[in-house]
Amino acid sequence: MPKRVIIVGSGIIGASVAWHLAKAGAAVTVVDEAEAGGVATRNSWAWINASWGNPEPYFRLRMRSIEEWHRLAAAVPGLIVNWCGGLIWDLPSNELDAYAAQRAAWGHPVRPVDHAEILRLEPNLRDVPARAYHVAGEGVVEPLQATLALLAAAQQLGAELLVNTPIKWLVEEDGKVSGVMTDVGAIHADEIVVAAGAGSARLLDSIGITLKMSTPAGLLSHSKPAPPLLHGLVMTPGLHLRQTAEGRIVAGTDFAGADPDGDPEGLAADLQSRVQAMVKGAEVLPLDFHTLGFRPTPADGFSAIGRPRDRPGLYTVVTHSGVTLAPALGLFAAEEILGGGRDALISTFHPDRPALQ
Ligand SMILES: Cc1cc2nc3c(=O)[nH]c(=O)nc-3n(C[C@H](O)[C@H](O)[C@H](O)COP(=O)(O)OP(=O)(O)OC[C@H]3O[C@@H](n4cnc5c(N)ncnc54)[C@H](O)[C@@H]3O)c2cc1C
Repeated sequence: MPKRVIIVGSGIIGASVAWHLAKAGAAVTVVDEAEAGGVATRNSWAWINASWGNPEPYFRLRMRSIEEWHRLAAAVPGLIVNWCGGLIWDLPSNELDAYAAQRAAWGHPVRPVDHAEILRLEPNLRDVPARAYHVAGEGVVEPLQATLALLAAAQQLGAELLVNTPIKWLVEEDGKVSGVMTDVGAIHADEIVVAAGAGSARLLDSIGITLKMSTPAGLLSHSKPAPPLLHGLVMTPGLHLRQTAEGRIVAGTDFAGADPDGDPEGLAADLQSRVQAMVKGAEVLPLDFHTLGFRPTPADGFSAIGRPRDRPGLYTVVTHSGVTLAPALGLFAAEEILGGGRDALISTFHPDRPALQ
């Protein structure tokens, strides 16, 4: 008998866990209180990266996930990754050099580029600095499209998808988590995976498990579609920008989105005017809309993946940078849930670590 697994959450994390489990032969049901495709996921900037500010174990996990994106893109129909690379000059130059030195020490150097090279890579940028770094191996997905492609591929492998089905609490019997409670009764399975993004802590709390996390808001402005003006991701101080597959320039004060601070419309208009000033050809490009996402962020900023309190029948995957990390976390979660052991790359990211209690 295949293992029956219920996954709560159909964002990019739940979708990746679902695809990996279904591929390995599990009988998967994905349940979401809303439509398919997630909440943070659909509002994400979706940069696949191992950029600055990561301690080595987190950096190594991210690098592995970048590799796993190549595997997923080859295996999942309709899953498109744009390996466009990124230009980075959003730190003071001494910090930027320290970041580059650290990457080199870890065996993944980034390339220094001068003014002329920056303009060769992105001829439509104004006010570019004397030097920056170019990271060629990074990319981006359109996050909703990628998530729906993973879910569709999981369904092709037999997974079921239940949308508009809120899970009210986790069901526990005789010390084992055995199901989830919907408005119309319980659904039971051998394993329950909580991949509910910002809603994860509340569900875990329903059986007395604490997962300390925050859900900071991140606003992004989206222009009307324009002809191609940017080739890759551009990270400048106070303005990160990229152009989507359909031509919109998406911008935030950084990739995680801007804090709306009570005036989302004003902030979106301000971001768009900075895009207009920065990108040749975008001088009169209008703002179309803005998005506001809430980033599921475990209290110390790193992923939480594993069996909380060793509770039989329960697994959780909650993370920021979930677009980057979805392929590796989905793979490792599926392996551990199906009894294949715990990958060393996630050994430091257990949900029971003191920082999350
Ligand atoms: C503005 C912004 C920029 C970002 N930029 C990047 C970036 O550049 N690179 C990167 O790697 N990451 C980035 N992130 C982070 C990344 O998007 C998230 O880590 C990722 O989307 C999390 O996916 P998820 O599936 O865990 O959560 P979600 O997409 O939020 O999905 C969780 C799902 O669970 C469902 N759910 C919740 N509670 C329940 C319940 N009780 N019952 C049933 N269903 C439930 C929700 O409806 C939702 O569909 C960014 C995020 C934001 C908001």
